[in-house]
Amino acid sequence: MNEPARAKTCPSCKRPVGDNAVLCIACGYNLESGYHLRTKSLIRKEGIVGRTHLGTPMRSDLPDSLVKLVSVSKTAGIVCLLMASLALSLAVLMATMPEVATQIHSILPKLRVVILAGPGTLSCILGILALIVSNKAKQGLPAARSLGLLTATLMLLLVPIGALFGLIMLALLLHPNTKRFYR
Ligand SMILES: [Zn+2]
Repeated sequence: MNEPARAKTCPSCKRPVGDNAVLCIACGYNLESGYHLRTKSLIRKEGIVGRTHLGTPMRSDLPDSLVKLVSVSKTAGIVCLLMASLALSLAVLMATMPEVATQIHSILPKLRVVILAGPGTLSCILGILALIVSNKAKQGLPAARSLGLLTATLMLLLVPIGALFGLIMLALLLHPNTKRFYR
C-alpha cells in the first residue's frame, strides 16, 4: 500500500477524488446525492480528462418516482414516434398506391387508411409530448406533472402499447413521492 489509507475514492468508479469533492469528474457521480449526471466522456490520448453534459442535466434531488418517470416517458415518446411513423407511412402507401392497398387488404381485410391515420397522428403528437415531459421532469419542473397527466391519460387510447406506458406514467405521476416533491 503506497497510497495513504485516507485517500478518497469515488464509490461508483473507484477513481481517486479530492477530499472535498462533491462530484467525480471521471464518471459524473454526485457523492452527496448518489445520482449520476448524464455525461459524455471527453476522450484524450491520456484518457478521460473530463465530462460534458449531454442534453439537460438531471436534477440531483429528484425522488425515485420522478427519476423513473424521466426514463419511462422518454421510452414512451420514442416508441410512440416509431409506431406513428409506421402507421402513417403505411397509411400514405395505402392511400397513394392502390396495388399495395389491395395486397394489405388480402392479409388484413379490416385495415383501412383511416384506422391507421387517426391513431398514427395521435401517437405522433403524444410521442413528442412524452419527450417534453421527460425533459421537464428531469429538471424537476412542475410542468412535467400537468403535461404528464394529460399525455399519459391520452396515451391510454393507444391500446395496447401506448396504454401500457400511459398506465406506468400515471402511477409514477400519482406516486406519493412525486406529489410530495411538487408540494
Ligand atoms: Zn466516479
